[in-house]
Amino acid sequence: MDRYSEVTNKNIREIVLLKGSPCVWGKCSFCDYILDNGTHEEEMNALNFEVLGQITGKYKVLEVINSGSCFELPQATLERIKAIIKEKGIEKLFLESHWAYRNRIQEMRDFFGIPITFKIGVETFDEDFRNGYLNKSAHFKSIDELKKYFDSPCMMVGIKGQTKAMIDRDMELVLKHFDHATINVFIDNTTTVKRDEELVQWFIQKYKFLDENPKIEVLYNNTDFGVGD
Ligand code: SF4
Repeated sequence: MDRYSEVTNKNIREIVLLKGSPCVWGKCSFCDYILDNGTHEEEMNALNFEVLGQITGKYKVLEVINSGSCFELPQATLERIKAIIKEKGIEKLFLESHWAYRNRIQEMRDFFGIPITFKIGVETFDEDFRNGYLNKSAHFKSIDELKKYFDSPCMMVGIKGQTKAMIDRDMELVLKHFDHATINVFIDNTTTVKRDEELVQWFIQKYKFLDENPKIEVLYNNTDFGVGD
């Protein structure tokens, strides 16, 4: 599995995929990447330190992801990231967290002390599809409430049961309200949630223009950032 890469088309940055403890929620119906979680802190730190050792700071921007939220990374890993930020002159971070940690986001911003683009898995602004079918447990009442904590939604498109109208509304809201967003085109995995190929082809055609939008990163494959397997 590749755990270090560089994102070079938009928002140029280094990116690392680290290992954290099990996702606080762990019940999203479409998710099987929690299989990458660990429980032995020493092993996780050893792996994470090795991956973090590859960071050069060449772009001054770093994204750290794990299969869950940044709050699930071991403390020693967080400390090592902080040291590398200082050592390599990193000026901006991208981190991700589930809604459940919203009241600790500021704590993480204070800990690192540099600007952070905080991502959150929203998947869709359709409440029923998000919290019902996808079982996301992200119960924000409005976009304003979401933006009190987070900067950048991660959206999912191309799932059976999702509609074109839902995706149109999601794209409209993302473009209108956020300075950064990631759109993940759903790829079948080991869960029972399935990709809708017709919907995916429709999305790719209709939203081709997003490829030219510097604020929006569309992942047509979940390894498009160069990490994962
Ligand atoms: S919050 Fe993220 S890691 Fe946790 S179950 Fe949902 S999609 Fe998977």
